[in-house]
Amino acid sequence: MSDLHNLSVKVLASLLQTKEVSAVEVATRFLARMGGNPHNAFLDIDSEVTLAQAQASDAKLADGTAGPLEGVPVAHKDVFVTRDFATTAGSKILSGYRSPFDATVVQRLRTAGMVTLGKLNCDEFAMGSANENSAYGPVQNPWDTARVPGGSSGGSAAAVAAGLAPAATGTDTGGSIRQPASFCGITGIKPTYGRASRYGMIAYASSLDQAGPMARSAEDCALLLSAMCGADLDRDSTSLDMPSEDFAASLNNSLEGLRIGIPKEFFGEGLAPDVRAAVDGALREYEKLGAKLVPISLPRTELSIPVYYIIAPAEASSNLSRFDGVKFGHRAKDFTDLVDMYKKTRAEGFGNEVKRRIMTGAYVLSHGYYDAYYLQAQKVRRMIADDFQNAFKACDLIAGPVAPSVAWKFGENANDPVADYLADIFTLPASLAGLPGMSVPAGFGSQGMPVGLQLIGNYFKEAQLLNAAHRLQQATDFHLRMPQGI
Ligand code: GLN
Repeated sequence: MSDLHNLSVKVLASLLQTKEVSAVEVATRFLARMGGNPHNAFLDIDSEVTLAQAQASDAKLADGTAGPLEGVPVAHKDVFVTRDFATTAGSKILSGYRSPFDATVVQRLRTAGMVTLGKLNCDEFAMGSANENSAYGPVQNPWDTARVPGGSSGGSAAAVAAGLAPAATGTDTGGSIRQPASFCGITGIKPTYGRASRYGMIAYASSLDQAGPMARSAEDCALLLSAMCGADLDRDSTSLDMPSEDFAASLNNSLEGLRIGIPKEFFGEGLAPDVRAAVDGALREYEKLGAKLVPISLPRTELSIPVYYIIAPAEASSNLSRFDGVKFGHRAKDFTDLVDMYKKTRAEGFGNEVKRRIMTGAYVLSHGYYDAYYLQAQKVRRMIADDFQNAFKACDLIAGPVAPSVAWKFGENANDPVADYLADIFTLPASLAGLPGMSVPAGFGSQGMPVGLQLIGNYFKEAQLLNAAHRLQQATDFHLRMPQGI
């Protein structure tokens, strides 16, 4: 079969179960496509490891012990630690690092039978919106290689969009699953904070970080998400004591009478007309499917930017203190004493954006500024979460754009980090509230670039979000279109 790389996770899983294809055949096909590392999407590939996992899957498929996703390939964002592949989080400070264990999410997808294709490029420590902050070079958008793929899970989005992997993992702290999914025309979901374990996910901002799947369709995301979620109480103190669900089982519910909240703050001046047109088109589809559009307000949307860019750097400055040249990765060669070693290691190992965040974070946490910035930001964070609860009195889920524009060109914002921060405006609110959110392909904007529709649900409403996305995907074919190329 020559078109294996175009097949969905669902179809691949069933062809593998019925032994119409073997796991080795599937893995070999994807490894061939990954040759030469198109779009710089991968940071580590080891075909021996992948093929050994595929052989083990074939053995399980033969003896009846196969998992539900046995033999289906997946690639992991490089912030998930893996025993069999290097893990760098896109940073020089972790170059050559190999973890002694697998992240829970990685382990759970292996238990479901998935075969690991490798590790995916990302912004350094997941800090970024364009994948221009990776120490290992930017990732290209497969729809237009002069444009960014979005970030920080840019490698994940580009790999799925270009057919280098049928699915990938991503992490979302302030939008890093939803925004690159939108920019690359694929589907991604960030579950409720705490539903997927953070164990083995290299921490950026612990109170916001959440893992999720990225794939072409909502149906494929549902299959991965079921395997990824579930309590991990002994290993992640913020893990929810809540079982996973069979998300694929509830994908065909009618949308008749569903109330979709349209926040007016998401459709203001800053929204590019081409994005607005595509999002409006998707909303019309929902009306045809029986949903009702309800105007709502999320009045503190704008404040989510300063709030997030205080809280996230504050947590990052603390989390990243562990990278000091003693236990992990890079250590400076010439130093005079311990403190000098710390300083040189961190100066050499961290990139500019990471340094900027550590400095901002240390500043807002420092004596005298803590109350004015950090504490104040926490209070507004609570108000943002309350605004959502207020909105959910009038609607079942919320829809709007993922980002104000389509993917921008490389270098456009390179000297202006704040321009990237501002582009996070529509993804940050759900992150600060810990709500599940997803990006669903909604059409194409200027120069043929994909546009994503964002769906935000109340806590634990992943099944409802996936169902709504799936129904849209049954009525449209945006998620099935693939960029020209490899
Ligand atoms: N763009 C945001 C940031 O740079 C979000 C990144 C993320 O979700 N990991 O922090």
